[in-house]
Amino acid sequence: MNINIRKEFDRDLLANWFIYNYKCFWCGKNHWDIFHHILEGSDSILNAAPLFNDDCHIQIHKQLRKKENVKMLLRKTLEHLLVQGYSFNENDIEFIKKHRVYYEEILKDKENEQKNKTKKIKSDSL
Ligand SMILES: [Zn+2]
Ligand SMILES: [Zn+2]
Repeated sequence: MNINIRKEFDRDLLANWFIYNYKCFWCGKNHWDIFHHILEGSDSILNAAPLFNDDCHIQIHKQLRKKENVKMLLRKTLEHLLVQGYSFNENDIEFIKKHRVYYEEILKDKENEQKNKTKKIKSDSL
C-alpha cells in the first residue's frame, strides 16, 4: 500500500470552517473555488488551502510546493482556523507532529514579528 496516497478532504468539515473565508490564500482575491492539499497525503483540515483553481492553483502548482509557499499556506490556514475557534482532532495533531519543522518556523516567525511590532510601537511613541 502506498502510504503517500492522497486522502480526500472531509468536504462538510471544510465547508463548515471556511464558510467565513472569502479570500484565495494565494492572491487574496475573493474568488477561491477549490481546496488544495498544501503537502502530499494528509486529509487534515490544516493541510487545506482555499485557492482559485485556474490561475492560483493548476498553473502554479510547482510554485505552491516550494518551501516558503508551503509555510505561508500552512500558516494562513492555521491562523484562519484558530480565529474561528477550531480545535484540533487526532488527525490534525498527527499532521502537526509530522510537519513540526514548518510549525516551529511559523511560531518563530510570529515571535519575531511580535518583537518587531513592540519595537516599532516603542520607537513611534518617542
Ligand atoms: Zn487567487
Ligand atoms: Zn493542489
